[in-house]
Amino acid sequence: MNKAVRKSLIVANWKMNLNTHQASLLLHKLSEKVISHTDTQVVLCPNIMTLQPLSLQVNHRQFKLGAQNFYWRDEGAYTGEVSATMLRGLVDYVLVGHSERRNVFGEHDRDIRHKVQAAYRNGLKPILCVGETAHEKAENETHHVLHDQVVSGLLNITSGEVEDLTIAYEPVWAIGSGEAVQPADLRDAVKSIRKQIHALYGEKASKKVRVLYGGSVNSQNCESFLAVEGVDGLLVGGASLKVDEFASIVEKAHNSRKQKG
Ligand code: PEP
Repeated sequence: MNKAVRKSLIVANWKMNLNTHQASLLLHKLSEKVISHTDTQVVLCPNIMTLQPLSLQVNHRQFKLGAQNFYWRDEGAYTGEVSATMLRGLVDYVLVGHSERRNVFGEHDRDIRHKVQAAYRNGLKPILCVGETAHEKAENETHHVLHDQVVSGLLNITSGEVEDLTIAYEPVWAIGSGEAVQPADLRDAVKSIRKQIHALYGEKASKKVRVLYGGSVNSQNCESFLAVEGVDGLLVGGASLKVDEFASIVEKAHNSRKQKG
């Protein structure tokens, strides 16, 4: 597989943390500490309220912005919601199907597939999050779960669109738990995801799709995930709020990318 064509991607999910002032301060510190590399794209996903001010503050050559969530309809009587149409011009990426959206807010496969479609309709790049629960892992259902989430999430998506897709493999049990995946299990999961893309869209798409790992990533363990074949980067939650930690993860991703060639 020619990995050289895929840029590494390090995505920071700040979740429901930081008010506008705190988010601005973190961005300021990150912009001083995180070194830009042409082979490694860094995406920051702050809460929705802070997107507008951060979009004015950010150096777009250094960081791209992403939204953590949105509603899939473009406009209308949907009180409290923000659409992908409204995010146009503010962000390049959108997270879709994060396990906290699935499990805390009851999002189903149908919502997730509508969101993927809405992202493409509005010129945004979706990062589709997939992963098994602890129970599903114990029952050896990981591959089955990944298959279903990928197939369902990408319904009605064309092979051209899929080339712009990022899939984040995030085992639910690893998110925020301090317990990360074993590299051998990560390799199997990533292989399974690419196989699925290959079956649905063919070889070219399966080589172009980026696959990330997320779940209790920190600066100490990140290299073991980045070294796994087929892994193009990381989705980072807790550690992305710590300037030195996150800067170190980005640097290690760049080094790993150089080593992979
Ligand atoms: C996440 O928010 O997607 C995540 C992986 O969180 P954490 O790194 O804190 O486990």
